[in-house]
Amino acid sequence: MHSGLTMITISQTLLSELQAHGVREFPHECCGAMLGEQTLNSETGDLTKQIIELIPIDNHWTVSDDDGFDKRRRFAIRPEDYQAVEKAAKAKNLTLLGFYHSHPDHPAIPSATDLKFAWPNFSYIIQSIITKVPAEIHSYVLDLDAGQFKPEGLEIYA
Ligand SMILES: [Zn+2]
Repeated sequence: MHSGLTMITISQTLLSELQAHGVREFPHECCGAMLGEQTLNSETGDLTKQIIELIPIDNHWTVSDDDGFDKRRRFAIRPEDYQAVEKAAKAKNLTLLGFYHSHPDHPAIPSATDLKFAWPNFSYIIQSIITKVPAEIHSYVLDLDAGQFKPEGLEIYA
């Protein structure tokens, strides 16, 4: 388990792609996979993840899955979609860094359901979309000891 600081970087082009996906699916949540590379700084122990490609995934949440909320407030990734993105990452010699999803008309704060379905070591980027306009964006990683998400640095470069 990695113990240093983690940071994730995304280009303005890919960020625009991610935001366009969120706007397209509005008022439903969009979701997708983030493929890229990670670099461990052996001196500081810090891990930097660079997103190289986004793969949009259909949101397969159904109301009966859980708590009465629909796709405006929830997303679900099917196991076969998960396997497909893992396979795609391997084929491209990239790492599956994590997943992004949108929060339509809701802040970029992880929900209890987001926590419930989170895996260790992955990054979870949440893009808030307010009245169809991209708003704040944050990235989180699971803190296994605390049993909750902790924010990670998100750097947007030109
Ligand atoms: Zn969420």
